[in-house]
Amino acid sequence: MLELTTPVQYVKGIGPRLAEILATKGISTVDDLLNYLPFRYEDRLNPRGIGELRAGEMATVIGEVRNSGLFRTRKMPIFQLTVGQGRSKLRCLWFHGTYLQDKFKPGQLIALYGKVEQDSRSGELQIIQPQFEMLGDAGSDGADDKAATSLEVGRIVPIYESAGQGRVTARWFRRVIRTALDDLTPDLAETIPTAVRERLALLSPREALWKVHWPEAGESLADLQSSRTPAHIRLIFEELFFIELGLELKRRQHKTQTGIAFRLDDRVRQAIKKILPFHPTAAQKRVLKEIADDMQKPYPMRRLLQGDVGSGKTIVGFEAAIIAIENGCQVEDTAPTEILAQQHYFSARRILENAGYRIVLLTGSLEADRKREVRRHISQGDAQLVIGTHALLEEKVEFAKPGLVIVDEQHRFGVLQRLKLMKKSGDGTDEKNPAEPDVLVMTATPIPRTLALTLYGDLDLSVLDELPPGRTPIVTRRITDDRSPEVWDFLRKQVAKGHQVYVVYPVIAENEETELKAAIHMYRELSGKVFADLKVGLLHGRLDSELKDQVMRRFQNGELQILVATTVIEVRVDVPNATVMVIEHAERFGLAQLHQLRGRIGRRAAKSYCILMTGGKVTEEGERRLDAMVRTNDGFQIAELDLELRGPGEFFGTRQAGMPGFRVANLIRDRQLLELAKREAAAVMAGPDSEVTQAEISRALVALRTRWQHTYGLVEVG
Ligand code: ADP
Ligand code: MG
Repeated sequence: MLELTTPVQYVKGIGPRLAEILATKGISTVDDLLNYLPFRYEDRLNPRGIGELRAGEMATVIGEVRNSGLFRTRKMPIFQLTVGQGRSKLRCLWFHGTYLQDKFKPGQLIALYGKVEQDSRSGELQIIQPQFEMLGDAGSDGADDKAATSLEVGRIVPIYESAGQGRVTARWFRRVIRTALDDLTPDLAETIPTAVRERLALLSPREALWKVHWPEAGESLADLQSSRTPAHIRLIFEELFFIELGLELKRRQHKTQTGIAFRLDDRVRQAIKKILPFHPTAAQKRVLKEIADDMQKPYPMRRLLQGDVGSGKTIVGFEAAIIAIENGCQVEDTAPTEILAQQHYFSARRILENAGYRIVLLTGSLEADRKREVRRHISQGDAQLVIGTHALLEEKVEFAKPGLVIVDEQHRFGVLQRLKLMKKSGDGTDEKNPAEPDVLVMTATPIPRTLALTLYGDLDLSVLDELPPGRTPIVTRRITDDRSPEVWDFLRKQVAKGHQVYVVYPVIAENEETELKAAIHMYRELSGKVFADLKVGLLHGRLDSELKDQVMRRFQNGELQILVATTVIEVRVDVPNATVMVIEHAERFGLAQLHQLRGRIGRRAAKSYCILMTGGKVTEEGERRLDAMVRTNDGFQIAELDLELRGPGEFFGTRQAGMPGFRVANLIRDRQLLELAKREAAAVMAGPDSEVTQAEISRALVALRTRWQHTYGLVEVG
């Protein structure tokens, strides 16, 4: 009998060597194996007659090998196979198909899947490069021919992704998964509380596993392909439910830890009022209240502040900082890059220094002496606001009295890193400071709700959903770069009106391979010829930081009218007088990046323009990105589309960014199930009631621990 936790090598037909191969696919237990779902299904119950095929459709055809052979054209060798059903025949072609020689023997039964096309010359139907499977041959061990065949024809057949080369084929998966199901213990524990199961009419785990791999005749093929059968829904819900349960548990655990209960009295309120350079928006007020409420609680704050570029997060962060500082604590404000840290340092000084707060900047590029001095200020407690790069935190920096950590995340900063930061910033073991500081995470990239629910599900969420007043919507236009003279004319007019302009390039220097226009070259062109009479600056990542600063400062105070740059300006550069953003080779940028860049303009009432210039071929996905940019300024809409185009792993830059590797769920497809799972998980964690018993909760928590550790390798849960 197999248990779900049994190592996969004990399933009949696997063994230690194949188990190693499976491990590379993340399959190490029976549970993993059974959650390795087919990526597609073929209807071999009602296979199509060759005579009924129509050009353009995807079809499964079962037939008999008639003949096959390789023929060479001038361009390449092509392998041709003819498959027959009675009198009808279908031709299949594989380009560069040399490897298929000798693979097919006349009379063999074969299943093919692919797109039916009409040959332009003969008008006959054919399938080019179909996927195929030989039927009725039990494979290497030669046994149970008939049993194996019955898994492959006369039913809806699951198709699995094969694992590399060799034996671990789709067919092999079909057989071992079948064996695992046959040998699976009859009493499979239900870990989802009964009330939840009944409310959502979920199948039992056993039934779901059987049906997802071996759908019954009559199951809708469309539902199967889109993972919408009851069996799929059960398994997907289960995965999401336990993820949400874990996150909910983490949130609750934070609240049992010792934090600092900051006081928010009239004195502190006055101090905040004093620094405010403008009336906060309603959204800013609401969000600050959420943060301030958290800060007054005796447990540590864990809050995510989301807001589009330009929504005014900076000031909210400073307000929170003042609460901590006025309570005698230090604030650590970290940014992902050096430029960003510096920018932030400047705005902090502009806004806070007049009020007498002591602010220091700690970045990697400081001289060793200066670094030591700054560290001393921090450890002695006279530095009140410490601004630095995330790297700063990896080094050992002792705070005399840490109170609040503000983590400014750009979009490439993942949950694992964040959890690491939080741990570092105080794990409650520090004897001098038994209380954990509050943590406020700020993201400049709007995160689609689905992702926020999972990646940030352990945090409370605040959203700045209103832009400060007096902004005119940015006008975004697309234009091909053969019309750049018109664009330069337009820039000239804008400059004549006293405005400033960014011109952004995808690369710093030329490179023959990419043939992209580059910042350095175009700087020469623009400053030397096109705008010889204007003041043009150049900013890119390879300049040393002093020069970068100098350029930024000159642009900031209006000495430079045009700034030629790479994406270094993506980060929190704040020059309200800049009203035009030209992006060359806009087709080469990611959507989030384009949106971030555009966020540099439109910061005042003056009308702002974003000009997306394309040079070269635009891919279909590129079209969708550019389209979205022209269509909307709404960061959340853009983020949703970005997620859809790139997938969750890419969305955060890297897969290691802490995305749990989902086994069966897909965040884009399964949004609604995720919301549902979150609601149900929260209700269960709220404690036993008339619906859910303590025993059920305990059982779910035990299942949760195994899952989180085993499957996601994420942080341990309590
Ligand atoms: P974010 O960090 O969210 O991208 P910022 O905090 O840099 O946005 O704010 C964008 C711009 O709006 C800044 O120039 C800031 O001074 C200004 N700003 C922020 N809040 C307000 C407000 N309530 N009223 C007027 N201007 C504001
Ligand atoms: Mg900001």
